[in-house]
Order: sequence, then structure tokens, then C-alpha cells
Amino acid sequence: MNETNVRIQDDLYEAVNGEWLKNAVIPDDRSTIGGFSTLDQDVEQIMMADFRAFAAGEKSSDLPQMKYAVALYKKVLDTERRNREGIRPVLPILEQLRAITTPAQLNQQAAKLLLTGVPLPLQMDVTADMQNAEKNSFVVAGPDLILPDTTYYAEDNQQGKQLLAVWSDMVTKLLAYTPLTEAEQKQYLADALAFDALVSKKVKSQLEWSEYYKCHNPMSVDEVAGYASPLDVKLMLTELYGDRAPDTLIVYDPKAVKEMNGYFSRENFSLYIHWAYIRTLLKATACLSEELAALGKTYSRTLTGVAADPVLEKQAYQLVSATYAEPIGVYYGQTYFGEAAKQDVVDMVKKIIETYKLRMQKNDFLAEETKAKAIQKLSTIEIKMGYPDEIKPIWSRLVFDENDSLFAAMRSLAAIRTRDRLDKLLKPVDRTEWLMPGHMVNACYNPSSNDITFPAAILQKPFYALAQSHSENLGGIGAVIGHEISHAFDNNGAKFDEHGNLNNWWKDEDFQAFQALTKGMVEQFEGIEFHGGKVSGELTVSENIADNGGMGVTLEIMHTLPDADYRAYFKNWARVWCMKAKEEYIQLLLSCDVHSPNVLRANMMPRNFNEWYEAFGVTEQDQMYIDPEKRISIW
Ligand SMILES: [Zn+2]
Repeated sequence: MNETNVRIQDDLYEAVNGEWLKNAVIPDDRSTIGGFSTLDQDVEQIMMADFRAFAAGEKSSDLPQMKYAVALYKKVLDTERRNREGIRPVLPILEQLRAITTPAQLNQQAAKLLLTGVPLPLQMDVTADMQNAEKNSFVVAGPDLILPDTTYYAEDNQQGKQLLAVWSDMVTKLLAYTPLTEAEQKQYLADALAFDALVSKKVKSQLEWSEYYKCHNPMSVDEVAGYASPLDVKLMLTELYGDRAPDTLIVYDPKAVKEMNGYFSRENFSLYIHWAYIRTLLKATACLSEELAALGKTYSRTLTGVAADPVLEKQAYQLVSATYAEPIGVYYGQTYFGEAAKQDVVDMVKKIIETYKLRMQKNDFLAEETKAKAIQKLSTIEIKMGYPDEIKPIWSRLVFDENDSLFAAMRSLAAIRTRDRLDKLLKPVDRTEWLMPGHMVNACYNPSSNDITFPAAILQKPFYALAQSHSENLGGIGAVIGHEISHAFDNNGAKFDEHGNLNNWWKDEDFQAFQALTKGMVEQFEGIEFHGGKVSGELTVSENIADNGGMGVTLEIMHTLPDADYRAYFKNWARVWCMKAKEEYIQLLLSCDVHSPNVLRANMMPRNFNEWYEAFGVTEQDQMYIDPEKRISIW
């Protein structure tokens, strides 16, 4: 029975979710509700109640790291102190930046600034090397932009202009709190905008970033240093690593580095410093007075369509749950996630991997040797389910002085985290690290370690429940599991081998056949009209391939169930993608997100599979019909 007048054969998403969507209200402090978002909100409510009890001393946790998490939580709530101190806690670092007037002065302090969280003309990080997943590499890229993507800077992009006006207005108000004179305030803002505009001409677009295997561009330190001058990259690396400084860097965004002087040069030096001053102030606002915190969120509220900031208690929980992510995820998992459910989902993952192997064997476009390598990759996928058994030592080192201001505490914590990340350069990759904490409603595949992570928080209704039918669970978490596994074989993941190394394990003709199918998937989504804009088939192709694979493998399992209920399968598939969102947020996702809009994820993929047509008797007369020759099933 349909919940609305819409026929399921015409619009699965609306037929299943329409009634709910009609009445759903997006909370003022969110940009979306439904599916993932509703679950996330539920987790947040549960955890907020626990933190309220921790802070009141009515409850405690056995995890030693929670002591500092609670202390930090209380610091956010201490508005008396925050409001009294106002902008003062951040002033020393702003003054330090203001005093830097030459590249030589910047170079003397650059390593320290990096640890303090001040943005440099290059972003730097340490992460697993794409070509040798056993070792870590030092990676560099250009600076972040103010707007969400380079495309927003196009001459005819009105949205970009409006957003920059909102940002400028916010910054103007913030700068009035600083000791800068009025003339300086105007100059700093103009310079920051000028710097950002120059950067926008050099850095990668979101579409370019979406092909992440192209990030692997090793360059000698000498070469990078040549491009980066007057920034002294070599001095910085020596300050950070002494005589163990790397001699090769991995350049994620080659154009930004090679043409760095287009935005950072001796002549333009003050543009950078004034940009860094404003970015540092903006980042600090969340930890300053309530007034500054609210002001500092103006731009992101506009960007995402959020009507109001979360109440103070929620802000406190959100800040702490991001800062102490792993211990809080472990606490959540241990407290709210059952072992029976964990074992059941692990079994489901294993079953899906085994079925994936069978499908690889039956695959009709790969040569036998390529199939064998694909099956090898499937055999070595690691499963990270729920939450980690052990909390990594770094989370116990996240301590601060109890007398610190909120800002000072956050700054020390950020420095400890950054130092820890940079130190990884000298150690082998720890493949037991988790990319997502237990309380996060999400899942992921890591191509560098060939593993999949399913945090405890996503293992709930509608994705998964012991009480749901097997068919419903397969249409929910099953398809998500299949989706994550498929990322091992999407247009990016396919470039990595079973060890997580960029390594071509394909026969040329097999890869060409795969690319032809990939092109079909690009075309299936390219240009679909959505909220006044158009879907980019290229930007979303890896996620669409993953959805396609996830549905293919779980439908295969459905065939083996004695009580398979295909209607329940497809309905739950549509239910997990249910989302009501603010228009601003819809537009933001449409231009930047590598996932297709939720309604399309729900409605496009089923039509590629015969089971959809059989389950609901879908024919050419129905909206959710496509010709058999246009149906795509890649994996
Ligand atoms: Zn994905």
C-alpha cells in the first residue's frame, strides 16, 4: 500500500516518503532532516543527555579520556568567562601575525604557525602514500577557498557574489572587535578577498578533486621549494623534522604549487598576511564570546540554509564530540551498540563479499587473470565494525591546562593533534586506525588500506535492525555495505591494488571495457534537471558506480533468500535516502557533492535492475522505466 497518491512505479521515493516529507519540519539548527539526518539527531540527543549527566556528576565513564572531554564541554558552557574575555584570548596570535611584514619573518615562524593552526600559503599534511601504502608521505596543496568551489568565482556566478558579500559583511563586523584602525580593517578585508580571488584561479575544482588518484604527484623538495619561494619550505621541513626531513613531497594539486607565485609573492606578501589574520580570527570565533561565536557562523548558516545556531548545550557537545571523536565513539558503541547486532552485521558483510566474488567470477567483461586479481582484492578487504577495540594513544594525550580559556585549550589540543599527524611521517602506516568514530552516522571505504568502516551509529533503523526483515536490512545497510565494497572498484578505487597501492592490475582491454561502462553511468546522470540546476554525471560517477554495485550484489543475495520480499527491499532502499533539506543546502550539494541528490539515488538506481520491474510490475507506461538496453549493471 502506498502512503501517498503517487504510484510507486512512477516515483518510488515520493511514494514511500511523500507523506513523511509533507509533515517533516527541518529543525532550525539543521539544514536537513530524514534518513541519515534523523538518525544523527537521535544520536546527538542521547549523547547530549549523557554529557549533561557527566557535567552534573550524576554519571561517569570508565574511559579516562572522557574526563578531559567533559572538562572541555564545561568550558564551552562557561559563558560567563567566555563573554567576559571577549576577543582577548585570540589577540596575541593576531598581533603576532600582524607583526610579520616580510617573508623572512614568516619563514622564521612558519613551522610554529603550522602547529598553531594558522593557515600557510600551502596546506601541508602527512598521510599514507598512494604508491606505497606501508609508508606515510608529506603532502602539500594550495590554500582553501572562501567559496565552496572554484566554479563559484566565475564572472556570471551570482550566487558566488552574494556569498562573498555575506562573508565580507561578517568579517567587517568581526574586525571591528580587533585593535586594527578603521582604515586597516578595510584594507585587511580587501586584501583577504584579493588573495582568495588569486588562489581561486590556481587551485583544483571539486570536480578535479573527485578524481583523487590524480593527487599522487611526487616532487623533490628542491623543486617545490623553487616554486614556493619566498616561502622557505626547506627551512620549515628542517624545523619540523631536523635531519630526518623528507626529500620528496607528494603534491596533491600541482598547478597550485607550480603557479604559487600567482597568489603568493614578495610583492603580494601583505595580501597573504591579512588573509591569514582574518582566517585565524574566524576560526577562533567558535571558542570566544557567544556574540563572536554567533557572528562567526553567519556565513556557514547562509551557505547551508541553517536558520539558527544550536543551543549552547548542543554547541558544547558538537565541539567536544569532534575534538575527542574516538573516545566518544567508543563510549557510544560500548553503551548503545549490542554485540548480537555487531556479529549479525559482520556476517552480512562477509556474505556480501563472498557474493561479490561470485559475481566477479560470472563477470563478462574481464579476462580471467583480471578477475583473479579483483577476487584477491575482495579477499583482503578488512572490516571495521561498530567501534575500535582500543583507543589510540593520541587520544589520551589530548590534555590541556584546566585554567586555560576555551580558546587556549582548543589551541593546545590542535597543536598536539597536528604534531602527532606530522610525526607519522617517521613511522609506518598504522592500518588499524579508524577513519570514522562510532557515533557517526556514515560508512566509508579507504582505498589506501582496502578496508571498510561501519560506525555503530549507522547500524540502526532504517538501515538495520534485528527486528527488521532480512529483505529490509539488505535494502538498507546491505546496499550501503555493497556500496562501500564497490568503492574498491569505482573509477578511483580501481586504480589501487589489494594492498592499497596505486598499481595497475588491469589488462588494458579490461580497463577500457570498464571505462565504457563508467561512461554509460556518467551519461545516465549527466544533466538531470534538479532544483533549477543540473546534476554533473562526472562529479557523481564514483558514488553512482558504488550504488549500482551495492544494489547488484544485494539483489543477488535476495535470490537466495527463502522469504525474499523485493518490495520491502526497494521500499527500504528509498527510505534510507529520505531527506528534506533547505534550498541553500540542496544547491550547495548539487555543485560540490560527489553523491547524487538523495531522491535520484533512490529513484535512478532501481531502474537498472530487472528485479525492480518484476517487484512492482513496472512497464514502459511508468515513469520509473528505462529501456533494457539502457540498463547498467557494472559489478
Ligand atoms: Zn560512497
